[in-house]
Amino acid sequence: MVNSLFISSTHFWNAGVVRDHLEEADADWILNCCSPSGSIEDKQIWTPAFNGTFSVKSTYKLLSSLVSQTIFPIPAEDWKKLWAMPLQDRLKLFLWKIAWNALPRKINTCWSASPTEEELSCSLCHNAPETLEHLFFGCQIACMAWMESPWSLNIQDLPSCDIGEWIHPILHTGPLLHLPLWEHPHFILFAAILFDSLWYSRNQAGHHGTQPNPSAIIEKVRSLFMEHKLARKDILRPDPFPFVATTPCKFLED
Ligand SMILES: [Zn+2]
Repeated sequence: MVNSLFISSTHFWNAGVVRDHLEEADADWILNCCSPSGSIEDKQIWTPAFNGTFSVKSTYKLLSSLVSQTIFPIPAEDWKKLWAMPLQDRLKLFLWKIAWNALPRKINTCWSASPTEEELSCSLCHNAPETLEHLFFGCQIACMAWMESPWSLNIQDLPSCDIGEWIHPILHTGPLLHLPLWEHPHFILFAAILFDSLWYSRNQAGHHGTQPNPSAIIEKVRSLFMEHKLARKDILRPDPFPFVATTPCKFLED
């Protein structure tokens, strides 16, 4: 109780008791306050509510304000754009995890106290440390897949940035690639499927020792892209890339 912080029978702060029981900054703040002069009985007050009474509503408002102060990896309008995309919810969630850098990489999951370079290397190529930026944009297989996309992208020509920053240009690909508006959902769909397929292949290689096959991965991305487009053809019209279904992967031709 507050009166236990007073010198006995007075309304003066007992500095020693205050400092013994509180952090230095809190103690300084209290000792600089005027002590209450009246004889009001102590009571607990829930300060987020105007009337001092706890309520779920005031708690929700408090938590919402704390969340809004959190630094999000991408702007709020990007989240809205992502959730409104004609993608499977699983793919949206996957993009969300990428934006938050929330996928478990070897550096986070390796049990060894002093892991070797090999233990932390990319499961697909073993030529670089495993990062999401490398897996989705720098790995040789990823670069091949981007090149085999309907946009024949040399992804390494694009400005590099961290994985959270990549989501923004992918969601706003128009200015980056000079694509017309109606192509955006196609591009985002392709990117989401490519990321998902690379992550699946990475897990298969890392957890089960499955040797990654670049041509098979690229072909799988292409066929999944077609399947998803057909499934959402009501939203994704007009289809600008009807040739994708019948054009063989360049790497398969080699
Ligand atoms: Zn790699």
